[in-house]
Amino acid sequence: MSAIDGLPPLREVIAAYDLAPKKSLGQNFLLDLNLTGRIARQAMPLDDACVVEVGPGPGGLTRALLAEGAKHVIAIEKDPRCVAALEAVAAHHPGRLTIVPADALSVDLAALTDERPLKVVANLPYNVGTQLLLDWIATPTWPPAWESLTLMFQREVAERIVAAPGTSHYGRLGVLAGWRTRARILFDVSREAFTPPPKVTSSIVQLTPRAEPLPVALSALERVTAAAFGQRRKMLRQSLKPLGGEALLDGCGIEPTRRAETLTIEEFVRLANAL
Ligand code: SAM
Repeated sequence: MSAIDGLPPLREVIAAYDLAPKKSLGQNFLLDLNLTGRIARQAMPLDDACVVEVGPGPGGLTRALLAEGAKHVIAIEKDPRCVAALEAVAAHHPGRLTIVPADALSVDLAALTDERPLKVVANLPYNVGTQLLLDWIATPTWPPAWESLTLMFQREVAERIVAAPGTSHYGRLGVLAGWRTRARILFDVSREAFTPPPKVTSSIVQLTPRAEPLPVALSALERVTAAAFGQRRKMLRQSLKPLGGEALLDGCGIEPTRRAETLTIEEFVRLANAL
């Protein structure tokens, strides 16, 4: 029996449902109940919330979210083997866990449910984590359907998400995340906490929507950041040449000899709006 919910320990679940971790699905499972509980609590309050979890796997974090009182958890899982294991968790918590057997990349969060507040909590598969985050940030309407994103990433990706201008991790991801959200790293999770252990340390990142992001078309912001950071060692007059180069920079009052990583988000927005 497990201490948090009376369901079998995760190691037994993994053995019973033959959940040998698959690298292709980014399967590094968390089996430590103290840790999954700590992650779930970062998204509190949960008792009035609908939590969307991407990649529940054998259900460690899912069970922690339910034990911490989440009103409703919608768990999106691509691996049919895990879906079978999760059905036992759903039966144990009638009406509180909905399993969506799908590729999360094809799920529109806003259309998934009308329940609000909606919070996303996930130990993301490393191979699609960044794309999912970009999809959630780049939603056409703002504020977004979600109230917070509490997500596990590889430490290096987490540093890029929260990076400030002038730092080595600052790039396209930091500009897009910083434009629409406030993002911070909450804590690190060591490799040994996972089964099997990944190659690098992970971090929990939390993002909340900015009420009034600077007005700009996302497509223009993406074009400018892609061009500027595509050649990050070059001066902007060179890297932004296809978009107007010195004329564009002069028009925005930005010194053409500067490099991408020195620009603030406000300056990127100015460039994008001038395109
Ligand atoms: N949440 C579990 C935990 O913390 O132990 C498992 C996390 S594991 C890092 C990632 C999970 O995402 C796996 O269960 C994997 O099958 C699932 N997954 C991978 N790609 C996915 C996708 N495109 N859509 C939904 N789930 C996916």
